[in-house]
Amino acid sequence: MNEPALDPTMEDAGRQPQNGLVRNRLQSFGLTMVVMGASFFLYYLGCFGTVDGPLTPAKMGAALAGLGVTRRHVILLLLSILIGAISWNWVFNLTSILIGNRMTCKAKGKGARGICGAPVKRIRQVSTRSGRPVVKYTCSHGHRRPDALFHPVKKGAVSHTVCLACLVFVLIAAFGA
Ligand SMILES: [Zn+2]
Repeated sequence: MNEPALDPTMEDAGRQPQNGLVRNRLQSFGLTMVVMGASFFLYYLGCFGTVDGPLTPAKMGAALAGLGVTRRHVILLLLSILIGAISWNWVFNLTSILIGNRMTCKAKGKGARGICGAPVKRIRQVSTRSGRPVVKYTCSHGHRRPDALFHPVKKGAVSHTVCLACLVFVLIAAFGA
C-alpha cells in the first residue's frame, strides 16, 4: 500500500486521498479511545456485572423496581427512542419541505448536472391570469420556477446504530429473562 506510485502523474492525484486516509485513521483512533474510556468507566461502575459498583445489573434492577419502574416502562421508553431514531429525519424533511428549506434551483445552468443549483426562496404570488395564489421558487441568479429540487436528510451511521441498539434492547426487555 505504501509503495511509491509508478506513474509520476499518479503521484499528485494520490496525495489527496492519502491525507484523507491519515485523517480517517486518526478519527477512528480517537473514536476507539473514547469508546474504550467509556467502557472502562462503565466497567468500574459495575455495568457488566463483574465489578461491584452502582451500575451492577442486579443493583440497577433493584433500584429501578424501588422507583416503581417496571419492565413495561423500560420497553415503552426504548420503543419511543427507537421510533424517534427511525423517524427524526422524516420529521425533519417534512418540516423542511413545509417551510421551503433545503431546496435548490432546477433551472438550466452552469452548475453540476447542468442545472443552476443555487438555494431558492419560496414566494407566493397571485397569478395574473387565474387570480389564484401560486407558489414560485426564485434563486439569486434570477431564475423563477414553479418547482425546485429538494435535498432530504438521510440517516447516518449513528442513527442506524442507535436504531439497531434500541431494537436489540427492546427485544431483550420484551422477551429476555
Ligand atoms: Zn437558478
